[in-house]
Amino acid sequence: MIPITVVEFGEDAERLVLEVLRSGSVAQGPLVKQFEDRFAQMIGVKHAIAVNNGTTSLVAALSVLDLEPGDEVVTSPFTFVATLNAILEAGATARFADISEHDFNVTAENLAGAITDRTRVLMPVHLYGQIADMDGIAALAAERGLAIVEDSAQSHGSALAGRHAGTYGLGSFSFYATKNITTGEGGMITTDDDVLADRLRVLRNQGMRARYQYEVAGHNWRLTDLQAAVGLPQLGAYDTVVETRQSNAEYLSAGLAEVPGIVVPRQQRDRRHVWHQYTIRVTPESGISRDEFVSKLGERGVGAGIYYPKLVFDYPTYRDRDDVIIDEYPVAERIVQEVVSLPVHTHLTRDDLDRIISVVSSIVDEA
Ligand SMILES: *Cc1c(COP(=O)(O)O)cnc(C)c1O
Repeated sequence: MIPITVVEFGEDAERLVLEVLRSGSVAQGPLVKQFEDRFAQMIGVKHAIAVNNGTTSLVAALSVLDLEPGDEVVTSPFTFVATLNAILEAGATARFADISEHDFNVTAENLAGAITDRTRVLMPVHLYGQIADMDGIAALAAERGLAIVEDSAQSHGSALAGRHAGTYGLGSFSFYATKNITTGEGGMITTDDDVLADRLRVLRNQGMRARYQYEVAGHNWRLTDLQAAVGLPQLGAYDTVVETRQSNAEYLSAGLAEVPGIVVPRQQRDRRHVWHQYTIRVTPESGISRDEFVSKLGERGVGAGIYYPKLVFDYPTYRDRDDVIIDEYPVAERIVQEVVSLPVHTHLTRDDLDRIISVVSSIVDEA
């Protein structure tokens, strides 16, 4: 079986983790600080604030925008559930805007159509490793006086014309086990704003500025040095990881381009795609249903994932809530039935890639 993800750590991480263990200082300390500084440098932003996971980082980013009940955050309906849960946990109301079939992300035009007089935040999700059209979205936010929170959980290092995801507003990243950079669990908020960065650091640590001086009712959102020791060595090697993912994606797309009914993902103009997922669309033209296609992939030894099988609000628990406002999203509603993610990770051999291509081609041939 060719797995959809492989989680593996190098000797650098092993060594650093052992150092931390032997030091006896395993909570938030100097390594978290180093991890933040190196991450900020990589993204090209002034501040990076590490927290215990990516959902927390979304909640934290929203919480420093001082939202009031009824204030609306507009996001993508085609995302992981954490995006929606974070909006609700922050006490805001969620609204959604339709996506583009070219990059799977919300568009500025659709966001504009979802804005009301209660809208406070635009929250694009940079899905699968590709930054959304942030030129258009940033212009819209500026024009309407709205804040931006970028759910960059899947897009460390993705960029538009050289400008990174996480630099257009408050950025939010995840270091969950299967993300491109991982600490097992972990998250990071990025910002150029000194005041917001300071507030986030205080909130993260029980609202404490100096020892036993509590400024606000805070939280324990801290990451640990043990986790930073796992993450730090990955930052130095990350460009190589992205290059490998990119060349795997290109190889797959070249091999799959002519398969009828299969639409391969594309890096949009001026964007750096970091290929967290390589996601094809199995359209009706292929003659096979997406779910049948996925089960045949499994039978023939190719791991695959469906990210995501339903739109984010499409569960009983989110219906009939006043703080989840659901409309119609024709593109997302179609795409959600077509997506299949194939392996694109750094452990794939040329043989693996050829096998993925031939298995996909033969499934469609036989259909
Ligand atoms: C992973 C992910 C998150 C949440 O991150 P966790 O670290 O798992 O809490 C949020 N949004 C998206 C789009 C994600 O993929």
